[in-house]
Amino acid sequence: MTRPHRSRPRRHPGPPDRRGAGRPDAGALRGDSDALAARLRELDGAGYGAYKGLAGHWRMDGFDLQVRSVQSDPFAPPSRLRVTVPAATAGLPAALYAGPVRARAASGFLARALRGALGGTGLRVDAGGQEVLERSALRVEADGTVVAELAVPLPGRGRRIAGHAAAEALTADLPRAVRTALRWESADRGAAEDFVTTVQDAGALRDALAGRGLVAFVADGAVLPRASGVDDRPLAGAVPFAAPESLRVTLDTPNRGPVTGMGVPEGVTLIVGGGYHGKSTLLRALETGVYDHVPGDGRELVVARADVVSVRAEDERAVTRVDVRAFVADLPSGRPTGDFSTESASGSTSQAASTVEALEAGAGVLLIDEDTSATNVMIRDERMRALIAAEPLIPFVDRVRPLHRGRGVSSVLVMGGSGDYLDRADTVILLQDYAVSEITARAREIAGYADEAADVAFPGHRHRVFDPRSVDPHARGRRRVSARERGRLTFGADDVDLSAVAQLADASQTTGVGLALAHLDLDGVPLAVALDRLEEDLVRGGPAAIAHGSLADLAVPRRHEVAAALNRLRAARVAGHAENSQM
Ligand code: ADP
Ligand code: MG
Repeated sequence: MTRPHRSRPRRHPGPPDRRGAGRPDAGALRGDSDALAARLRELDGAGYGAYKGLAGHWRMDGFDLQVRSVQSDPFAPPSRLRVTVPAATAGLPAALYAGPVRARAASGFLARALRGALGGTGLRVDAGGQEVLERSALRVEADGTVVAELAVPLPGRGRRIAGHAAAEALTADLPRAVRTALRWESADRGAAEDFVTTVQDAGALRDALAGRGLVAFVADGAVLPRASGVDDRPLAGAVPFAAPESLRVTLDTPNRGPVTGMGVPEGVTLIVGGGYHGKSTLLRALETGVYDHVPGDGRELVVARADVVSVRAEDERAVTRVDVRAFVADLPSGRPTGDFSTESASGSTSQAASTVEALEAGAGVLLIDEDTSATNVMIRDERMRALIAAEPLIPFVDRVRPLHRGRGVSSVLVMGGSGDYLDRADTVILLQDYAVSEITARAREIAGYADEAADVAFPGHRHRVFDPRSVDPHARGRRRVSARERGRLTFGADDVDLSAVAQLADASQTTGVGLALAHLDLDGVPLAVALDRLEEDLVRGGPAAIAHGSLADLAVPRRHEVAAALNRLRAARVAGHAENSQM
């Protein structure tokens, strides 16, 4: 019944990439661009497998091309190329990529420029969408060297090599794109500067939040709604954001100077308003405010603290030994709620578990939208309280203020359909016709303010220690960590459903989550400690710290989404709970 587990050292798992073994060495220097072109033409009509002989380094005009892996047939995942442009050739001004934030931004800019320049060639670079994440696809190194990781389906006619097309792609299209996009002399310098300063300013705004007692900031003029559910670009003709006077703050930025907008204060914030007036759109903007956005996105200067985590109901998810006593008292089944597991949670228990898990992973701000919540875990009105004595659920409304006062965890809630939170909220924001006003005083007139003395302290919860052998990407022998889409992670023997994990940015970040999960050193420590170590490794080493030989495109994940994936991994087992049960 028990699966045999491969034991392996956790800190440095996985062998180095040996895909080149027995073939031309992926590290060897093979020749120049003409030699590569000649070789590819020679291969025209040969069996597809002969492409394998391309592995190694080719000295191109102004860059090194490394053929890192070659697909075995035309239908396999694309081949992987690395382009290295020496600092002197790239010629980037040092100020453009000085420090980790600018380096990430400069990399993001160049990746997008390269993607544009590669358009129509079949060569691909994982440049990302509206968020500017640290990605494996392109990095500007500390000395100004530019390294890009590309994917290319090598051209074939059936199972034969299309050598002339391949020569065109690798020795004409690629050098042209590299020349256009990765050299400062031909770059759109104004756009590059704008990109980098925008990202830097967003970071500065985010860094300023805690010192000002804010959890988020929405700049005046921001455009929050998206073009559509499947198009993350700004909605054309949207009503731009304007802060209400009472919540207007001015924050400083290094490049733009002072920026005004709405500061969302710490504590309990309620967003109310009629249906379709823009409540969820505002919350969603705060959700993605943990990331920086590209110029023109509309949310460039909408930022939220890095520890903002959105929580929702997600029935049918698995829950593994979570201490949900804060929200679920004695169950009729007699199941212990201090150590609660289920293969398939209900809406309410899933939301209760996700809330505790978010706290366990270090969330400092919770975002909750009525649209995606289980009503019975959020509220219980007076009539029901009077009628039903045996109710195991302790609604969030009873916990929200103690959670802030006792644990310092703020909440931002969208709640249009119930007035239950009005008397617990520190700040009430009204959305009407997409316009924001603050109506805290009016809410007090209507609902009063619930006596804080009557609040029950937010209970601590037990910290889980996972069994590292159960979090095994090799569970089916070969290492399996991949993500075809944002909401679906393949990890070991599991297919992990992450569709309800709202703050995952894209499929590459989901891949990053999987690789981080494989990298996690869970042995004998509470999850939060393992996540701290992961963050240290990522700060020090970037995407390479968790790749362990994987050539897959990855974006650096947050600790919160890594924890969310572990929490949804059905194979994962909890070995026990940490001695010190408080956070
Ligand atoms: P609610 O949560 O209050 O029901 P939503 O946030 O879902 O409302 O918004 C309803 C619709 O209004 C969505 O289609 C959204 O794109 C659009 N919308 C939201 N904010 C704006 C805005 N500032 N300008 C124009 N359209 C907007
Ligand atoms: Mg809504």
